[in-house]
Amino acid sequence: MSASHRDALRVALLYLVLSVVWLEVTGYLLSKIFDGSADLPRWQLINGYLWVVLSAGLIFVARARLLGCLGIGATLRQHIENRARLRQAQAVFDCTHEGVLVTNHQGVIVHVNRAFMEITGYRAEEVLGHTPNLFKSGHHPPDFYQSMFQTLRHDREWSGEIWNRRKSGEIYPQWQTIRVIHDDRGRLSHYVAVFSDISSIKDSEHELIHLAHHDPLTDLPNRLLFSDRVEQALASAQTHKRGCALLMIDLDYFKLINDCLGHNVGDQLLKAVAARLRDLFGPGITLARFGGDEFAVLAESCPQLVQAAALAQRIIDSLKEPFQIDANQLFINASVGISLFPSDALSAEQLLRNADSALFKAKGAGRDGYALYTEELTAHAQHRVEIAFELRRALEQQELRVHYQPVHDLKTSRLVGVEALVRWQHPQRGLVSPAEFIPIAERTGLIAEIDAWVMQQACRQMCDWQKAGARLSFIAVNVSTRLFARRELYERVAQVLHDTGLDPACLELEVTESAVMDDPEVALEQMHRLRELGVRLAIDDFGTGYSSLLRLKRLPVQKLKIDQGFVAGLPWDDDDVAIVRVIIALAQSMGMQVHAEGIEQVEQAAFLLEHECDLGQGYWFGRPMPAHELDWARTPVIPLH
Ligand code: C2E
Ligand code: MG
Ligand code: MG
Repeated sequence: MSASHRDALRVALLYLVLSVVWLEVTGYLLSKIFDGSADLPRWQLINGYLWVVLSAGLIFVARARLLGCLGIGATLRQHIENRARLRQAQAVFDCTHEGVLVTNHQGVIVHVNRAFMEITGYRAEEVLGHTPNLFKSGHHPPDFYQSMFQTLRHDREWSGEIWNRRKSGEIYPQWQTIRVIHDDRGRLSHYVAVFSDISSIKDSEHELIHLAHHDPLTDLPNRLLFSDRVEQALASAQTHKRGCALLMIDLDYFKLINDCLGHNVGDQLLKAVAARLRDLFGPGITLARFGGDEFAVLAESCPQLVQAAALAQRIIDSLKEPFQIDANQLFINASVGISLFPSDALSAEQLLRNADSALFKAKGAGRDGYALYTEELTAHAQHRVEIAFELRRALEQQELRVHYQPVHDLKTSRLVGVEALVRWQHPQRGLVSPAEFIPIAERTGLIAEIDAWVMQQACRQMCDWQKAGARLSFIAVNVSTRLFARRELYERVAQVLHDTGLDPACLELEVTESAVMDDPEVALEQMHRLRELGVRLAIDDFGTGYSSLLRLKRLPVQKLKIDQGFVAGLPWDDDDVAIVRVIIALAQSMGMQVHAEGIEQVEQAAFLLEHECDLGQGYWFGRPMPAHELDWARTPVIPLH
């Protein structure tokens, strides 16, 4: 019997006892007091009413106890309370902006709320009975879900960012909390997932990041992002042993435009400048705006100062084209400051600072131009860029000339061949040496055209000499490293031989030692192909590179040309003497001819003759000269001791 049952029984017994006691005591007392009195019945009635009132009170108490003992009251109350709570929960469930999804212990969806449908785009009946796999985006690897379930098993709750797929197929980020529900017996009964769509937060996060790193007017990277990129570029350049250039651009007199035409026009002009510069650059170049009229450019692969200077010139030239802003046609100039990595600075900060001082220098030098961080470099670069531009014009306007330097057989002293050497007949500067423009032509790629042109001229000249009765056995033409590396060289040579009709055995191609040894396999293939044409091959400036004897032996080369640097010290410098003797012995042992260049003195010629060098070339025999000046009958005598 429960406590409430016992309590009800106690009340009932008490009621019984009290009734008996009350009736007995009050009956006895009333009969004593009103013995024989006419008032007795009235008092007995009053006493009866009193008992009724008392009983009613007791019955009320007993009933309350009885209901309590039967448990009906509490259940009813609980039932009412539960219904109220459920109504509240349902309202929360439906009104919340967070999606709610409930699955049973097997992960089958049993419940979703209205927000779930709004966020995912699914209707409840489309998902009930399915598993949440339906929403997988494929964004997370399997171990993401494994660790999520591990946390759920361990902590009974998991929270985190998860990317799911809407019914439309769109993938979006959610912030999700999953909780594990257990029943009264502690068995897993449900999973409840509550999530919110955080794509708008993500968007604004991105927007904020973008705003923090970009200039709002032009949408170009700002100083912060640019500095970051410079640091990354320098790190990569250091690893790959590359050069970088940083250019600072400032528009000349931009303030005037702002002051005279208003800030609106100024802003539009800045936008137009940004757009034009953006179009000018390809990949590998970052453009940024630092504010005001200051822009910055990072060229990630800029090995040479000339390239940086040429880039600056391109920027300056492109901005010279007028800008059409509303009804105004605006003309602007720009000044550019250049700083180079690694020659000027090794850190991003220093590079920026140097470019800034170079810009200051450019402005100080009259604006509308560029300056390098170091002054000598500026003049040097400007000169080289000018040459590169002019050289193109020189080719078109036939300002190049070919001079010929005699080559003599040292034993007979007879003129046996010539070397074709290019010159530039500059309209203002006179005859320009190839040493000045060949390296620039090599960098700009113009060298292939120059070499082909020289070869054409030389072969034609050789044919003319042969027709005139000259007993020349070869004409030597220099082939640049760049052209030598290209397959088209073969076609070019074949074409020239075909066009001029020269006997291929009379054409000698001079290739420098470094061109051959830089990529020996390619060189070997190229040389064999050229040999098929019947032309002769010579290694120029021999001794200045790092030839491998093994490789040298395999090359189909007929001649070694001793570099003039070793001839200069003959016959007094012991080192030069030793080197020249070795080269002669080497050439002889490999069955090659040996040819000394740069012979300026008779002693040098005598030494070489004594040591059985085959051929000699140099000012002592004759300088490079125009074709008509060549005296092919000249035979200077080399006196022997
Ligand atoms: P290289 O092929 O070694 O030519 C020899 C250079 O030595 C020539 O200089 C010549 O004038 C110079 N030289 C000859 N004898 C003497 C001498 O006794 N003393 C001194 N000090 N110099 C002497 P140049 O004509 O200035 O040519 C320089 C270099 O330019 C050439 O060196 C060659 O590498 C290159 N070059 C010239 N013409 C061409 C060409 O048409 N194509 C290519 N790719 N390179 C060329
Ligand atoms: Mg040469
Ligand atoms: Mg040489």
